[in-house]
Amino acid sequence: MKFEKREILLIVGILCIMIGLMALPGMNLIYSVMIAILLYFAMKVFVGRRKRQIQRAVGQGICAICGAKITENKCPKCDSDKQEMP
Ligand SMILES: [Zn+2]
Repeated sequence: MKFEKREILLIVGILCIMIGLMALPGMNLIYSVMIAILLYFAMKVFVGRRKRQIQRAVGQGICAICGAKITENKCPKCDSDKQEMP
């Protein structure tokens, strides 16, 4: 649901840019529509890439104890201590 809201905001923003482009002298309708579509896909790629980056950065989560990034289901700080304990 959150994603859809963002998508609508993106489309509205790009429509505003498109209308702005149409108002420019020497700009025809096809060019402004093409620029708007290109912008839309560029934004989609950018947002998708950022999402993937964040997912990769967060990884499997953050340790509840120390807040370190969890890799391979282990906390690099806490799990090395736990292994020493019985
Ligand atoms: Zn930890």
